[in-house]
Amino acid sequence: MIDLDVFKHVNDTLGVEGGDCLLKLVAERLEANLPRDALLARQNADEFLILLRAIRNSFEPTLIAEKLLTALQERFVIGQELIHLSGSIGVTLAPADGTDAESLIRKADMAMSQAKQAGKNRVKFFAQEYEAIANQRLSIRNSLRSALTNQEFFVEFQPKVRIQGEREIIGSEALLRWVRSDGSRISPLQFIPIAEEYGFINEIGEWVIASVCEQLAQWRNEGCVLMPVAINISLHQLLQENFVDILRFNLMTRDLPTHLLEIEITESALMQEIERTTQLLGTLQELGIHVAIDDFGTGYSSFSYLKHLPVETLKIDKTFIDDMLKSPRDNALVRTLIQLAHTLGMKVVAEGVETHASLSALIELGCDQVQGFIFSKPISASELCTLACP
Ligand code: C2E
Ligand code: CA
Ligand code: CA
Repeated sequence: MIDLDVFKHVNDTLGVEGGDCLLKLVAERLEANLPRDALLARQNADEFLILLRAIRNSFEPTLIAEKLLTALQERFVIGQELIHLSGSIGVTLAPADGTDAESLIRKADMAMSQAKQAGKNRVKFFAQEYEAIANQRLSIRNSLRSALTNQEFFVEFQPKVRIQGEREIIGSEALLRWVRSDGSRISPLQFIPIAEEYGFINEIGEWVIASVCEQLAQWRNEGCVLMPVAINISLHQLLQENFVDILRFNLMTRDLPTHLLEIEITESALMQEIERTTQLLGTLQELGIHVAIDDFGTGYSSFSYLKHLPVETLKIDKTFIDDMLKSPRDNALVRTLIQLAHTLGMKVVAEGVETHASLSALIELGCDQVQGFIFSKPISASELCTLACP
């Protein structure tokens, strides 16, 4: 089974007719790269099924699948538009994985889904453990539906600490928590991607924005020190039509100044839709809502984009911080990232700092702020208020 990775976006820009035209070109290209006796069918939307008969050896499906992925990567031309595509492929083998079409297709779908989650543009063969993963995902998806109405979500806050000059908590990041009715706790790393895939993320994200604003108002009423709170935003959420209005509405109804809200968006999300996001981030900046690029260093940005992005902060991903002390090369990399950010007028936050050794190194390299277990884990709103009290 082969699924196109970014097809929805194509439909959005080319319109449905352009999308249809592209699907035909994709089908032609797939067919041209398949053995003669292979059967190619469109399963639905942007999913194709391929049946290979009489496989001679176990390498053959891999070779064919990789050939298809390479073929897809060559650009497509539709009217004036150049389209770049990639695909994710899941493979099942008969009779090992099943002997009827229904179970072979179901398992190919699981393998394809694994290929997508592993970063797209790749091939995965069905493995027994995918069944358990798929069941777990299904269970999460089903219970996500009612999580909001059952009030199973809450937000924790992790302090951001200034490390140059006087050490001080200067803000926090809101992190979503989910405890299901059976008491099981599910990490946002697990449920956020599922919420994104099944279209729950806007609703959940809106709930996070409202709760954070409500919390800010409550801190104000309780006389706590008021500091900016950063909220993680998924790309889909940022691109929804009324995103800016939602932020504005939640701040205004509680009479909160805009600088108390910041948003964090991952570098890889930003890069997926660089033009639209740049424009949106500009609007946020005009409003006075600061933006941070999250997980910086993992998303392959091009520096020319970075220069034009209306962004106040770069958050260096934990993996760089962890490796920084192990090798001079990684140390130099972090130093360069910090200098780059400063040259562009941005502040730098190091994420996931756990040790005094990393902290000292970061102070020495000129990093502005640190977030990590060394200062505090994510904590409740009242704990943060106590911690931040002068
Ligand atoms: P993130 O934005 O990169 O958040 C930082 C993650 O690192 C958090 O994990 C935090 O608990 C963890 N962390 C912080 N300091 C340390 C440390 O010193 N050591 C270690 N080992 N970990 C540390 P968490 O809370 O599990 O969140 C995971 C991810 O889920 C977040 O990564 C963010 O991408 C996403 N997420 C969380 N809340 C939301 C939300 O409300 N909306 C969206 N769209 N995504 C969210
Ligand atoms: Ca974040
Ligand atoms: Ca991060």
